Amino acid sequence: MNLILLGPPGAGKGTQARMLAESHGLVQLSTGDMLRAAVAAGTEIGIQAKETMERGELVSDDIVIGIISERIDDPDCADGFLLDGFPRTLAQAEALDEILTQKNKKLDAVIEIRVDDEQLVGRIAGRFTCAKCGEGYHDTFRRPERDGICDKCGGSEFSRRKDDNEETVRSRLQAYHAQTVPLIGYYGESGKLKSVDGMLDIESVNRQIEEALAGL
Ligand code: ADP
Ligand code: ADP
Ligand code: ZN
Repeated sequence: MNLILLGPPGAGKGTQARMLAESHGLVQLSTGDMLRAAVAAGTEIGIQAKETMERGELVSDDIVIGIISERIDDPDCADGFLLDGFPRTLAQAEALDEILTQKNKKLDAVIEIRVDDEQLVGRIAGRFTCAKCGEGYHDTFRRPERDGICDKCGGSEFSRRKDDNEETVRSRLQAYHAQTVPLIGYYGESGKLKSVDGMLDIESVNRQIEEALAGL
């Protein structure tokens, strides 16, 4: 099964992607994670993307299309993948269609997670991640069971993203509304779109997604 998770920054794409990857044996492909890794490693792509990401703007279509096109060829993607944060523009969506056709693969569903802008600012402000395994947490909505210890791996180091500040969040939301929202219409027309209410708690959102997938 090949899926796309669509939604604004902070909607819960990463959180749900990790749950679905585990329950369905899919590989999670997050362009945000890949770009952050490139920035940390100081690669050519990382150098090109760094400042754009810090401003909360979208990096160029060519860069992310290139990353995804290569990654989808890896053998671990053969049994199904979950795109988290890609595509984010119509040009990326069209390029993805071409890539999938070329590679003889198909898209099964696009899951849209709907959350109001006011809720997103609070989600992003409280977000932190286990530095060792990448598990996502929130100061209020998803604290580790034991303070300071990751539930998943027992790690005790956590990190916060540099772009998770109020000013950058506003540009990211603007980018979402201007450049990514048109994809809802694009996938709506293709009949692949499944929208879920992302304002509910993490488990309830997961349940809605599982129900939508069961109906495929
Ligand atoms: P995205 O990948 O869409 O940017 P995340 O999955 O990183 O979003 O979620 C953003 C923050 O909100 C994280 O701190 C996460 O723990 C928290 N979160 C995710 N889903 C929910 C939810 N349904 N209700 C409350 N908080 C949530
Ligand atoms: P979010 O949690 O806000 O959804 P991501 O981790 O998906 O954030 O992305 C972080 C940043 O990486 C974005 O603000 C953007 O600069 C860049 N980025 C990630 N995916 C894409 C993409 N598909 N197209 C362009 N830029 C992207
Ligand atoms: Zn961990």
